[in-house]
Amino acid sequence: MSHDAGKQNGRDVDRPSGDRVPFAVPSFADGVAERVTETLTSGWVTTGPQVAEFERDFAAYLGAETVVAVASCTAALELCLRALDLPPGSPVLTPSLTFCGAVNAILHAGLRPVLVDVDEDTLVPSEATVAEAAARTRPLAMVTQNQAGYPVDVPALARAAGLDRNRVVEDAAHGPGAARDGRSAGADSHAACFSFYATKNMPIGEGGAVATTDPDLADRVRSTRLHGMSKDSWKRYLPGGSWRYDVRNVGLKANMTDIQATIGRAQLAALPGWQDERAELVRRYDEALAGLPGLVLPQRNLDGVTHAWHLYQVRIPDRDAVIAELTEAGVGTSVHFIPISHMTEYRGLLGPDECGAVPVTDRVAEELLSLPLFPGLTGAQQDRVVSLLTGALRRRTALAG
Ligand SMILES: *Cc1c(COP(=O)(O)O)cnc(C)c1O
Repeated sequence: MSHDAGKQNGRDVDRPSGDRVPFAVPSFADGVAERVTETLTSGWVTTGPQVAEFERDFAAYLGAETVVAVASCTAALELCLRALDLPPGSPVLTPSLTFCGAVNAILHAGLRPVLVDVDEDTLVPSEATVAEAAARTRPLAMVTQNQAGYPVDVPALARAAGLDRNRVVEDAAHGPGAARDGRSAGADSHAACFSFYATKNMPIGEGGAVATTDPDLADRVRSTRLHGMSKDSWKRYLPGGSWRYDVRNVGLKANMTDIQATIGRAQLAALPGWQDERAELVRRYDEALAGLPGLVLPQRNLDGVTHAWHLYQVRIPDRDAVIAELTEAGVGTSVHFIPISHMTEYRGLLGPDECGAVPVTDRVAEELLSLPLFPGLTGAQQDRVVSLLTGALRRRTALAG
């Protein structure tokens, strides 16, 4: 999200850099610049051989059958939703606590978002909240989300919604590195959509991908990521290729370039090491923050799952004032997310009744705070975040007591 990127470089530039703790800094693998230079001088920079290799590499990383690379996770969601060929205006379940891009994708696909409340611990819809929303609206599809890197149980949620699994489009923007029962998020999916945005765990800068078990969906996304053309220009210019192509669907311009794919291939090799670092940073936060008065630590029910720790989200009283104090002290934070039901456009579209029917979202949204978490965050920086947060909480408890 662009507001995170702004915090990395803006505002605090005149503070001594030793004191500042950015919210997120994108990591880049050793040697990535040299590999990009090779691609730049190869004579082919848009969708071509590097994209094909990146798709194979990412599929292997996930243990997925097929990956199709696209321009962003938002585009991936829209292309997958369009591929369901649902009647215009069909209801589609979506978490209320999610990123606006995921809901825009539903709207751009001509469908109607239906908000589903979240569970207090996991911060994603539970089987109960999904079943409740499904009973009200008879959805024809559902978008799920792995908030912060918590892998949701997609088959269980599909059952709760009364939907076939091939009517579920997974927003796996926080998914790389997450697993459930030993299978990566997206490995067995009809349509799992990943993001390689600057602040995500697998940063390219911009980029996205669809992982799928369905060859028809893969073909459809491959064509609709590039206007709906039956063949991309790389294929047409290959030896034996032809200038002819057809258009069978109105697509987007949402292809990934070979420059992005080159970065992605280098990044993928470094990702497991970065994930280990995230897990260690989370262990240190957990240890340092456990038992602080008023503080709720993130997602505690982790039986059988590998959390990807895209975010470390605590819940804290007097959140807005604490953010102001941390900002003043040079510590970058963020909030994931301002609920969909609190945004002007969606309130207008969905109406007050639906926007008022997500009480857990409303309550936790006032308290959520994402702390700095990125590979390369130093022990000293983490200690500074912990001590500022501890001070802020202790002062409030003393005042209250
Ligand atoms: C970042 C994000 C997206 C959008 O990803 P892009 O690649 O920037 O389009 C979608 N959903 C969630 C939950 C996100 O955090």
